[in-house]
Amino acid sequence: MPHPNDPKLKSFIDVAPDSDFPIQNLPYGVFSMPASAERRVGVAIGDFVLDLAALEAAQRIDAGAPGVFAQPSINALMALGPQAWSKVRGRISELLCADNPELRDDADLRAQVLIPRKDVRLHLPIAVAGYTDFYSSKEHATNVGVMFRGKDNALQPNWLHIPIAYNGRASTVVVGGTPIVRPQGQLKPPTADVPSFGPCRRLDFELEIGVVVGGASRMGARLDAQQAGDMIFGFVLLNDWSARDIQQWEYVPLGPFQAKAFGTSISPWVVTREALEPFRVAGPVQDPKPLPHLQQSGANNYDLDLAVDLRAAGAADYATIARTNFKYMYWSSVQQLVHHASSGCAMNVGDLLGSGTISGPGKDQRGSLLEMSWNGSEPVELPGGLRRSFFEDGDSLRIRGWCQGDGYRVGFGEVEGTILPAN
Ligand code: MN
Repeated sequence: MPHPNDPKLKSFIDVAPDSDFPIQNLPYGVFSMPASAERRVGVAIGDFVLDLAALEAAQRIDAGAPGVFAQPSINALMALGPQAWSKVRGRISELLCADNPELRDDADLRAQVLIPRKDVRLHLPIAVAGYTDFYSSKEHATNVGVMFRGKDNALQPNWLHIPIAYNGRASTVVVGGTPIVRPQGQLKPPTADVPSFGPCRRLDFELEIGVVVGGASRMGARLDAQQAGDMIFGFVLLNDWSARDIQQWEYVPLGPFQAKAFGTSISPWVVTREALEPFRVAGPVQDPKPLPHLQQSGANNYDLDLAVDLRAAGAADYATIARTNFKYMYWSSVQQLVHHASSGCAMNVGDLLGSGTISGPGKDQRGSLLEMSWNGSEPVELPGGLRRSFFEDGDSLRIRGWCQGDGYRVGFGEVEGTILPAN
């Protein structure tokens, strides 16, 4: 049997070369049908969703534990561990393969388990146990540092030694497509003498990739790079919505709180670590060398193209405002996870780790409006003469991501959100 990542594999289902969901991908999501509230686990293939709960009921797939697909999240599947993840993905690949008649030639079974993607409703794929947001792009940290502290103090002294992060809120992680209500909070612009409470005026996004943790570690235990790598189930697109004015007033001395707590959007499809293996690339050289427990060898980043599109309120179409790549991140996902557990912090199945805003070296590669508009001084130009420094009500933002293979691409779909007026 060929490996599920084999670039030559073809499915009996037609998949366009620019589709995000060829047979080499097989990302997991949670869906329901319009007439039913019942949620179950599926896999995206071309324009279809493969219903894994129905496949299991038809005794065509066995994850090693019953009922893991008839669930409102993929957590039960993740809890089975990396060997089961590989086995299940291998079996799905086998079932969808062009030269396997098992599903291809069984019209009744196909009608039961293959559903047009446009007919399903997609839900949050994971039960988010905890959400942590990192700050691992050197370009982003430098841009923000230059804006607020000047060129000479751009990076804080700890930045090159620790993957910086804060503990965020799992309660407001939502699936892409969920509207985001403009947050309210304490504001104190530099011109004001006293703070006031009201709607955020500097609402922003952050382009990130989320790591989905599929394993657990005990309180008091630490993780080495191998263990951390094995615990990563997959990745999602993530938008860490950010209220810059609330953040600026509240962040001293404990870091972001309400400025980040009102909403975090993730893509409905979780792309597995295994599907991304062919796209590994070396990250930037780390100088100074990290402390021994954070050191890694090999190619630890991913060549993952990212695009950010903005549709201004009332505009007909999205306009692309940034293109960058996940490969620029200074700290790898494995280093983030090793660091996260290094004190003895317990990690759980369903933990979500935001990468931090992904900005590249170029001006058109910046992953937030704060950087693109240079703190509002150079508004982003949009079609029709529109300009934005920060979001207005009715604006929509969309993030797309994909790894380009030879004749196919392993993609994430999109994560989208529209700003509603403050309540
Ligand atoms: Mn962030």
